[in-house]
Amino acid sequence: MKINSPLEAYKYLPQTNCQECGQPTCMAFASTLIDRSGKPADCPPLIKEKKYTKKLAELEKLLAPEIREVILGVGDRIAKVGGDDILYRHKLTFFNKTKMFFDVTDTMEEAALVERVLKIQNYRKFYVGRNLLLDGIAIRAVSNDPAKFAAAVKKVVATTELPVILCSFNPAVLKAGLEVAKDKNPLLYAANKDNWKEVGEMALEYKVPVVVSAFNDLDTLKSLAKTFADAGIKDIILDPGTYPSGKGLKESFTNFLKIRRAGIMGDTEIAYPIMAIPLTAWMSGISDHVSASFWETALASVFTIRYGDMMLLHSMEPYATMPLVHLAETIYTDPRSPVAVDSKMYKVGTPDENSPVLFTTNFALTYYTVESDLASNDINCWLLAVDTDGIGVEAAAAGGQLSADKVKDSFEKSGFDIHKDVTHNTVIIPGLAARLQGDLEDKLEAKVLVGPMDSGRLPGWFEKNWPSKK
Ligand code: SF4
Repeated sequence: MKINSPLEAYKYLPQTNCQECGQPTCMAFASTLIDRSGKPADCPPLIKEKKYTKKLAELEKLLAPEIREVILGVGDRIAKVGGDDILYRHKLTFFNKTKMFFDVTDTMEEAALVERVLKIQNYRKFYVGRNLLLDGIAIRAVSNDPAKFAAAVKKVVATTELPVILCSFNPAVLKAGLEVAKDKNPLLYAANKDNWKEVGEMALEYKVPVVVSAFNDLDTLKSLAKTFADAGIKDIILDPGTYPSGKGLKESFTNFLKIRRAGIMGDTEIAYPIMAIPLTAWMSGISDHVSASFWETALASVFTIRYGDMMLLHSMEPYATMPLVHLAETIYTDPRSPVAVDSKMYKVGTPDENSPVLFTTNFALTYYTVESDLASNDINCWLLAVDTDGIGVEAAAAGGQLSADKVKDSFEKSGFDIHKDVTHNTVIIPGLAARLQGDLEDKLEAKVLVGPMDSGRLPGWFEKNWPSKK
């Protein structure tokens, strides 16, 4: 039985409210355990005092996710893979967004290798206030030559802090790469029914995570995972095979569902993160580059939604990476807390005392859409993000999170005085919140203009309606 409320977690804590964990009370700390922003080891008395040893062990067991969480790499860019508790996001939230590793090979020229590694490392896509990134490098031993593979691994780990996957079914090649990257906590890909003994020994000796692989054979996959777990290897990732098309793809998809269902329902022998390999699109016989890229992205999208915890990819064209990073971000957004920006007054461009004043809600997607529509049209203005608990304009106006009182309150908290900081004493409100106009005029003692329903129409609206007529 797992615990899922702060009250249940609280029972296992020292209950002294000593604040050594940085929280005001043990109950507050218990809340961080449940939302996974904290871990039992963050409570010093629980770790240090012998009398709590048993409680600590019980608590860790009760808080452990159904699907094991595996950490790849070291440093700031570690990749946490797996760690989910549920099959459907609306039941709680998904943890640890699908991690995307892009391939390089040990036959690449050094300059091209470094260039691609840096391209993967430096990828950034700005989206609702955050940068979406790629997660790591998969080094494929195409040469099957230990020395060549070791040289490529050495170059990659010297170039980037990103986690790496060492890819070969040849234990001698894997070992050569591992020797070079052993301090970087690399992932070994992969142990199969032919090499499992050597690769398993390597994972144990070097204490690194490992993938077990059995193409479309769940019995062998489970048996390999169990053998490794019995031998003391904890950090296991499953590769059930990703067939790129047709009936085989349907089987691969079904395998992902079966594994995850079994893991969540309590079959601990297979409760590990799953790796998808959309890279197989390039081996499916599609001859032209764009079509292969497109199909790889389609496969990756399928397995982001069901239940690929990490994936190996090749195509780095913007039309391939952009939809993928957006999709993963969307699927893994926590439905319990909408993505919100700070509620305050923002400057768009270089506004002054004659510039218009607008407001929108602090739902990040709404805020950045409005901000971008204004900034890209060179409209200098003041833009207030009203605190609506991260809810968009229409829903917040209907649900009461966006009211005249809330807007007044947000103006006051922002320190912006509509009567003194601008000369026109006018506020422009979203068209979807038109019903607030009268109330707002009374509360703010200001002129209130109703803007367009869609912020994309703001430039045209300003041409007709601004400067506001006295
Ligand atoms: Fe409670 Fe532990 Fe935090 Fe102290 S450090 S307040 S005992 S949770």
